[in-house]
Parts: sequence; structure tokens; C-alpha cells
Amino acid sequence: MHNIQVCISIDGNKTASNNRIFKTNEHAAYNSIMDGYNISKKYIIPAILSVINTNIDTDEYYTFFNDISVSYMDCLPPDSTYDKFDMNANKLGLWLIKLFDLWYFDRNKNKPRIRMFEDAINLFLGNENYAGGELFGRNFNGVIDIRTNGDIDVVDTLRICGNNLLLAKYNIMYNELDDIINEDIFYKFYNAHQDNVLCKKCRNCIVKDVCGGGLLMHRFSEINGFDNPSVYCFDIFYYLCTYKIH
Ligand code: SF4
Repeated sequence: MHNIQVCISIDGNKTASNNRIFKTNEHAAYNSIMDGYNISKKYIIPAILSVINTNIDTDEYYTFFNDISVSYMDCLPPDSTYDKFDMNANKLGLWLIKLFDLWYFDRNKNKPRIRMFEDAINLFLGNENYAGGELFGRNFNGVIDIRTNGDIDVVDTLRICGNNLLLAKYNIMYNELDDIINEDIFYKFYNAHQDNVLCKKCRNCIVKDVCGGGLLMHRFSEINGFDNPSVYCFDIFYYLCTYKIH
């Protein structure tokens, strides 16, 4: 009736999820998540949000989501900033190329739609009005986070950059959503893919119109603020160039 879409976070099979997603009692949440997913499927087809775990084999990952009949999913690179990035875990690009091949050459007409791949293809084809979002493209980021207590804030992904960026003073009881528009952090988030916020390297990059500099949180460092390319710059460049060859 209210046109609300349901999205469920599932990082993959039991192995992929159990060391990452926990209930408040610190027990692994996989079984509860799958119970919720199966109940929700009776009423609505939920979208899936999946944080990538490159320790999980791509075949295993793709087979899992096919087996549970996912119709639409978004794959997100793990949260990180320059100050928290693990250089030894830097194999995201290769992992995403393998996943793209599995998905692209899968002739099953019921295979999951994967937003990241569809967006990259649309952006390469010039359909920028229909693709992008926080991860890719040159569109504006129009998302506002409203917490269960009514606080209005920038998206929760930016929390990894430090609490001093959070906007604790806005609440839907006393404010309009537009009230946060003049906050510096919201300005940067809204314009994250525009030249006035991108760093010099991104502004001059040949895949800028597809990459858009990546997620804003991935550009943060204590020294430069957001004036950096993504921590996943190498991986993004690597997999976008490979997709383009396809
Ligand atoms: S690939 Fe790297 S340099 Fe190019 S736009 Fe993306 S983050 Fe910036």
C-alpha cells in the first residue's frame, strides 16, 4: 500500500555470514536472517544487500544466491578508509572480475540481477540517468538517514570516518529534511561524484564518468579528509577496464 521495498543484508552462505553478522547477544545471525528472508518471500520479493567477502570463493558466492532464488542484489565493497585499509586484502578487483564472468555468461534467465554490474554496463553505454548511486556514476547522492529515534543524519556508511561528522542536532520532530542541506558533510556527500568534491586524480581519470570516485567513505583519510581517490582505486580501475573489454 505504501510502496515500501524491503532489503535484507546477506553476505553469502553460512561461512560468509557467520563471522560477520551478529545478533545483539553476539550469536551468529545467519539462521535468523535466512528465516526472515524465507518469511518475507511469501509476501514480497526482498532485495539483497551483500557486503563482499573476498575470502569466499566467487563460485560458492554466486551459487548460494542462485540457490536461494535471489532476484535483485547489490554487492558492496567492505567499509574502509585510508586509515583502516588492509593493503594485504587488496584483491577485490580480481574477485569482482571473476564474479562478473560467472554472472555475465550465466544463461539462466532467472539469474539474479546485480546492481553493480548493471550500473557499470549502463554507464559505459551512456545511460547515466538510470545508473549510479553512491557507488558509481556522476549523479547526486540523494539519500538521507533517518534513525529509529527520528534523528536525521547523513548515511550510516560515513560513520566509519569518525563521530565528528555525524549530525546529532536534527530530528524529524523539529526539522525539515532540507535543514541539513547546508551542513558541510551533507554537501560533500550530495556532490560526492561532482568535480567540486572529487580529488585531482579522479577529476582527470579516464573512467571518471563510470566510477565517479567511488563511495565517499572510501576516500577519507585523517590527513586529507575526502580529498583522495577511493582506497579501492586500483581495484575499481582494474575491474571497470575488464568489464569494458567484455
Ligand atoms: S578509478 Fe580511481 S582515480 Fe579513477 S575515478 Fe575511480 S577512484 Fe578516481
